Amino acid sequence: MDYSQIISEITSNVASLYGQGKVADYIPELGKVAPRQFGFCLHLNNGEVFVHGDSEVKFSIQSISKVFTLSLAFSLLGEDIWKRVGVEPSGTAFNSLMQLEYEKGIPRNPLINAGALVITDMLVSNFQDPKTEILQFLRQLSGTQNIQYNETIAASERKTGYRNFALGYFLKSFGNLQNDVEQVLDVYFHQCSVEMTCRELASAMQVFSHHGMEPFTGQRILSMSQTKRLNAVMQTCGFYDEAGEFTFAVGLPGKSGVGGGIAALLPGQYSLAVWSPELNKKGNSVLGMKALELFTTLTGRSVF
Ligand code: GLU
Repeated sequence: MDYSQIISEITSNVASLYGQGKVADYIPELGKVAPRQFGFCLHLNNGEVFVHGDSEVKFSIQSISKVFTLSLAFSLLGEDIWKRVGVEPSGTAFNSLMQLEYEKGIPRNPLINAGALVITDMLVSNFQDPKTEILQFLRQLSGTQNIQYNETIAASERKTGYRNFALGYFLKSFGNLQNDVEQVLDVYFHQCSVEMTCRELASAMQVFSHHGMEPFTGQRILSMSQTKRLNAVMQTCGFYDEAGEFTFAVGLPGKSGVGGGIAALLPGQYSLAVWSPELNKKGNSVLGMKALELFTTLTGRSVF
């Protein structure tokens, strides 16, 4: 299969979609990103890597970080994590408060904000220095030390993240947050502010296409069964309230973020990352989604 040719065809095809979406600006610092950028990195399980466009530009991974903090908590605490967070798609916005009230403080899944805050709370309870541990974990998975928090973006979100504060205090009122709300939010804003390139992100996703084995050192991070669960949660809950649409169009488990990144994988075959900052109304990258739809269509390789 000529992946270089396919990816370059996709890149020219999606360029016509520039201008159809809008860069997220509810976190003021994110609004400053130049909109017309597009990067694509495919990382095959045999180690071959194909990059295209702006795939070496760092961007804010935002909610994609939720997959990594979930993996860390799952590897530490096992099945117990599911006592405090569910695994059903939410069908509501990622920062919705409504469902949390009905469901008495147990978030629908770990990839919406409420669920991610509960997971971050677990890391705060289990680590002396959770911010350093999260960063180390990301560095290990991506195979590079060159992964950092962006303090300006973290501070920008802290200033305007009223809904996340509301979710944090709401969770606390239901007894589903053990630590100080401000401390949990500080870690959460930092994990969202992490910057990676498409190349680094595709590498970090390799653990999921290798059934839980981190391929650079051969270390097992998650068991086969845990990886199955992680991938299932990405498939059903990874794309805000567009998870059905993403599965329909693309057919891969993955996770998107409001920085415009999408990370996805095909178990046993490959991981990939695509980035383009203009988002559709649901918060997913317009060019990114189209690129992945074309990728699985042209290669004929998806989980379905
Ligand atoms: N830090 C963002 C928030 O909590 C993440 C949103 C996202 O990427 O979905 O609003």
